Amino acid sequence: MAELEHKYEVEINEKEGRQKLPQNVKDELKASGMMDEKGKLKLKGVSPKMLKKMKQEVVDCPVLKEEIQFIQCFVCPNFQSRVMGKVLCKGDSL
Ligand code: SF4
Repeated sequence: MAELEHKYEVEINEKEGRQKLPQNVKDELKASGMMDEKGKLKLKGVSPKMLKKMKQEVVDCPVLKEEIQFIQCFVCPNFQSRVMGKVLCKGDSL
């Protein structure tokens, strides 16, 4: 398989405790049908077990220049794939 074109390889880190998604991210997820009104995530192809793990993960986003939840990264237009604990990121400005 040819390697996907990407600008950054962003390390995924685990974080203790419950992570909260910012309100604007929740609104976006809801608008695109990836979160229901109760705030429950509905990501296609992601099992509840995976989702639980994803909720503990964060990345240092090189575009937004801040630490964000992996969930937010996963639904970002720059997200290409996840390979060996790293996100392949297109790196376009958001
Ligand atoms: S995919 Fe989006 S959120 Fe994730 S690191 Fe790249 S720009 Fe940041």
